[in-house]
Amino acid sequence: MFKKSLFIVGLALIWSSGGQAAQECRIEGDGPVKDVLFTAQVNCHLAEILAKTLQKAALFSPRQPDISLIIGDKAGNASFDNGSVIRIPQFMFFTDRAGNTFPASSDQLEKVVVHEYGHAVLKELWKREFAQEFATLFADLESLSSIVVENTKKKISGRGVRQRGQQLAMSEAYSLFYKTLPAYSELYADTLTVLYFAESGAMFQALHFAHLSEEKSLGVELRDFSKQHDLRSIEKTNDAHTRLSLVRSYLGRMMQNLDKEGRQALLARVEQAITLAAREELRSPGQTSALGENLRLIELLQNLDPANRPLEMME
Ligand SMILES: [Zn+2]
Repeated sequence: MFKKSLFIVGLALIWSSGGQAAQECRIEGDGPVKDVLFTAQVNCHLAEILAKTLQKAALFSPRQPDISLIIGDKAGNASFDNGSVIRIPQFMFFTDRAGNTFPASSDQLEKVVVHEYGHAVLKELWKREFAQEFATLFADLESLSSIVVENTKKKISGRGVRQRGQQLAMSEAYSLFYKTLPAYSELYADTLTVLYFAESGAMFQALHFAHLSEEKSLGVELRDFSKQHDLRSIEKTNDAHTRLSLVRSYLGRMMQNLDKEGRQALLARVEQAITLAAREELRSPGQTSALGENLRLIELLQNLDPANRPLEMME
């Protein structure tokens, strides 16, 4: 398929189309999106919606890491590569029980892209906090991302990139990271999204589709911060995206009636608590049960809550 790419230069997105007539997608304002690259058809309208959403979400966030947005054609999900690349399809689709596919709305894509940005925001903190364990890994992942971006601009497929990716995946740091921290990163990415949109059901809305399979449906329900979840459902899904959903219920209650500053303060407490919990997890990887991890994190959050008296903090 003919591929076009699109780069942001200053305030503008410009694609170079390998000999075709030039076209610009203009996006006003500055933000964390440094490149937008299309691997299928160019869609300036979508690029603008997503880049503007990320501009606003970055202003809400405690840190504003730069990212490159690679917008593909059709896929069932989006991703952040733990370097600097967010991949998102133009047509994110849901699959019903009969295998038919239905496209997500642009409202849903906005929530999904903020979720992916949440991973990038947390990674900036963890680069410092877990420098000893993961500085080299994150640096390697970032340089891999830069190569991916350059290759996508030049429309080169990346055999070398795949090899480097595979080598990284075999490193000790990589397996330690993926054994211990994904559930924390997923929780943080969801938390940033629900707090930014000021809707405890934001992640549910982003991923909900009426005719999902029962299994997928449960996985989406467990992302809803407005519901009280139970351990049985968490254990049934056995997934990093839902492992800490008792904490999601707790945060859903905590965020009620908070104004913007209150939600930003809660986000700051969440990242502090998550980092403390992650540090404990790294001391004894894989030893704590899902229930234990949920309760530990809720306790850390309670201890960091200025509304709790110091005496209770000693407990
Ligand atoms: Zn995620």
